[in-house]
Amino acid sequence: MNDKDLYQQILGIPKPWSVTDVGLKLDGGKIEVRVSAPSSADMHCPVCQKVCPRHDKRERRWRHLDTCQYQTVLVAQVPRVKCEEHGIKQINVPWAEERSRFTALFEILVIDWLKEASVSAVARQLDIRWE
Ligand SMILES: [Zn+2]
Repeated sequence: MNDKDLYQQILGIPKPWSVTDVGLKLDGGKIEVRVSAPSSADMHCPVCQKVCPRHDKRERRWRHLDTCQYQTVLVAQVPRVKCEEHGIKQINVPWAEERSRFTALFEILVIDWLKEASVSAVARQLDIRWE
């Protein structure tokens, strides 16, 4: 099993998305996992769920659960679609809430820790800031 297959499985990224690259930045203590969907894949308006033509794409990054001692970040070029009814909208990705900079699994980890410790302690331990 190669690194892309490994991350594809442990992240549980659903089709049409797939892991296309895994990069380790030893000096920064980070792992970047690039995820993409083929240009032929149908993309849906996040409001009405209708399949819409793609307009453009924007790079977005999400902090994910650490891999061993390395901060792990998902990176994807997220398409924006042009819906006849709702205009230009960024599609929803299956691993994160609409405007979040964290994956859903990372948010669950933070919420679980907040039940046990103060906001400042959790922020310090997970190397995140309040905003
Ligand atoms: Zn729509």
